[in-house]
Amino acid sequence: MDAQLLAQVCNTPGISGFEEPIQEVVTAALRPCCDEVWRDRIGNVIGLRRATDPRPGERPLRVVLAAHADEIGMMVKSIDGDGFMRFQPVGGLNAQAIVSQRVVIHGQQPIQGVIVPARDGGPPALADMLIDVGRPREEVVRLVTVGDPVSFAQELVQLNDQVYMGRNFDDRLGTYCLLAALQQLPAAQVDVYAVSTVQEEVGVRGMPPAAYAIEPDIGLAIDGSVTWGAHIPKHEYLCALGEGTGIYLMDGLTIGDRRLLRFLFELCERHQIRYQRNIGGGTDASALQRTGRGALATTVGAPTRYMHSTVQLAHVDDIDATVQLLATFLQHAHELEPLIR
Ligand SMILES: [Zn+2]
Repeated sequence: MDAQLLAQVCNTPGISGFEEPIQEVVTAALRPCCDEVWRDRIGNVIGLRRATDPRPGERPLRVVLAAHADEIGMMVKSIDGDGFMRFQPVGGLNAQAIVSQRVVIHGQQPIQGVIVPARDGGPPALADMLIDVGRPREEVVRLVTVGDPVSFAQELVQLNDQVYMGRNFDDRLGTYCLLAALQQLPAAQVDVYAVSTVQEEVGVRGMPPAAYAIEPDIGLAIDGSVTWGAHIPKHEYLCALGEGTGIYLMDGLTIGDRRLLRFLFELCERHQIRYQRNIGGGTDASALQRTGRGALATTVGAPTRYMHSTVQLAHVDDIDATVQLLATFLQHAHELEPLIR
């Protein structure tokens, strides 16, 4: 586990549509381990690592690993007469989880604030919350413009030897696993495209143009696997924290390609990688599977407890198992050739 890389990836802001800061971190990390790195029009960062010793006259299989760079957050919607701000949610915010959270408004300069209820009473709905930055209105309007992005301020915390807590493990754990797998990949007989996508949280908007341009044969999205937790019933979720990486059987947008799933399960068993079957919400795999002629696709990723809150929990062993699965998969992906051509 590269704790420094994990902290850098998790502490760099980048809400949907405003991914520049995290995409810069990703670009810098991909450069040393890719042959080419570029950013496409919508903002995806794509790193290409060419196949080692391709057979003459044959195009190596194209394999995409994709992790979404965006995190959920907010956009400033209005500033009232007292300098309090209303906000527009960007991505699926959970009202219960965000009252009293610290935030950063990315205005003329980063401005710290806190989310508070707009009136007294029971638990407020999202539309009944304000951001208070503790500054007079004149100062607020000088520093903040309607449309400025707002991110949560919770930084990465190590709760104990095994478990980390962060605001954006969905999907910065995916970003970390993508970078770590590329960094430790010795050689592969496929063309590997590492794609750091944008705007997944607002409806898988970044992946389609990248998939269209790359025309992958196989695609794995890397995203969180939902787990049970304190208020999340055990019978509703398949994955548990600390019991291995999650491999998606299906989610709200994709049914995992069964040949690819069988290959992944066998790979885990052969290489003693702990894994769990997962049923998830909806990921970039949907666009990998359906864009152009379509790729064999599914999603893998470490179990993440309390997704879409600012206190997401993840286990070190699950993160390591995910990296190991991705690196092992890339080394063996050419074995899928007979299924594809
Ligand atoms: Zn996600």
